[in-house]
Amino acid sequence: KEVSATELAQHYLTRIANSPLNAFTHVDPQLTLAQAQAADQRRANGDQSPLLGVPVAHKDIFVTRDWRSTAGSRMLENYVSPFDATVVSKLHSAGMVNLGKLNCDEFAMGSSNENSYFGAVKNPWDLNAVPGGSSGGSAAAIAARLSPAATGTDTGGSIRQPAAFCGITGIKPTYGSVSRYGMIAFASSLDQGGPMAQTAEDCALLLNAMVGFDERDSTSVTRANEDFGRDLEQSLQGLRIGVPREFFGAGLAADVEQAVRAALQEYEKLGATLVDISLPKTELSIPVYYIIAPAEASSNLSRFDGVRYGHRAADYKDLNDMYRKSRTEGFGDEVKRRILTGAYVLSHGYYDAYYLQAQKIRRLIAQDFQAAFEKCDVIMGPVAPTVAWDIGAQSDDPVANYLADIFTLSTSLAGLPGMSIPVGFGQGEKNSQRPVGLQIIGNYFAEAKLLNVAHQFQ
Ligand code: GLN
Repeated sequence: KEVSATELAQHYLTRIANSPLNAFTHVDPQLTLAQAQAADQRRANGDQSPLLGVPVAHKDIFVTRDWRSTAGSRMLENYVSPFDATVVSKLHSAGMVNLGKLNCDEFAMGSSNENSYFGAVKNPWDLNAVPGGSSGGSAAAIAARLSPAATGTDTGGSIRQPAAFCGITGIKPTYGSVSRYGMIAFASSLDQGGPMAQTAEDCALLLNAMVGFDERDSTSVTRANEDFGRDLEQSLQGLRIGVPREFFGAGLAADVEQAVRAALQEYEKLGATLVDISLPKTELSIPVYYIIAPAEASSNLSRFDGVRYGHRAADYKDLNDMYRKSRTEGFGDEVKRRILTGAYVLSHGYYDAYYLQAQKIRRLIAQDFQAAFEKCDVIMGPVAPTVAWDIGAQSDDPVANYLADIFTLSTSLAGLPGMSIPVGFGQGEKNSQRPVGLQIIGNYFAEAKLLNVAHQFQ
């Protein structure tokens, strides 16, 4: 007997209610079940859309009309949006049933999900470990079977790194493919939404429904409709895999290197050849990203002033005092750090030295990739230098967190598509096993190729 959307939603809602992971910020079973019943009705009327009745949950950075939209921040603790993000309405029209909103680092700033006002999310493979971030709730929910599909956003790795830490699959598409409308802005020239799921095949179905030109997003690209799953079964015979030297240097943990190299060998067995390539500016991607992203964040987050929406302090003397108190109370430490850094690098006298310089190097980083793609079809390497760390282990050390982004930032700065697939396990504390992700990077709009390459491994 076919499972109904209502039964499916009920199944996941029960799992969510019993989960110790803190992966969700907001669930509303009544709303979910109403959507499920509507999906069942559509099916009864003959609708055969592939995602009809399939549950999904949204990173709480996508605004939703019916569910609160917090961005993991006290600033938006009680915020209800008057509209749905484009991604949310697209998946809704495809018939997907919303299970609720997923925890994330505050305004997507972080790599461990410990920066959420609503508390850390736990990694289902080991409850002492972080799930990665900033889409940590999304990755944990998929890994723990709290939802078969989730949305995430990736500004500098936030889909790929939590996917790696939780042993699931996620893809950040080419910048501009997925509408940013209704995705609470962090760094607009980098922010990109994408799907997270168990497999590349699932990601292809989700991506099909997520992409598309949106006139309400000024950087949205116009492309002909394509089926991202069209090449899933294609053979990898003759595929040239670029292996960047700079992704395997000092700082890469031995267990992660072992799992990634073993995956590369598997790819050779599938008919691919490994090509030695160089991405010489890899190290510079850290200072460049941590100038550009905070600069854009300081500008984007100026809208949270306690006037139009969001948190407003209870007592204040005058307008300036109201701004100051509302922002002091509403934002967490990491967000404040980014706003301060961003305002500094944009300020008169420092703009040329930092921001403009970073923009120039950003261009060179993108050129490095183009040179590499003359020698290979896809690039592979680790997603992160280590497996998931323990909750609390480096929460007081922002620089340690920034350094751990080294392999994901350059892809974002170049606007290229990148994905993470699970390829094995490394060693956590007390002999626990923690997942390792393989990163697959493609040229612009090569998502179908990436998904093909991922699917052949899975
Ligand atoms: N870890 C990076 C940061 O903290 C990336 C976050 C993201 O991609 N949203 O900015």
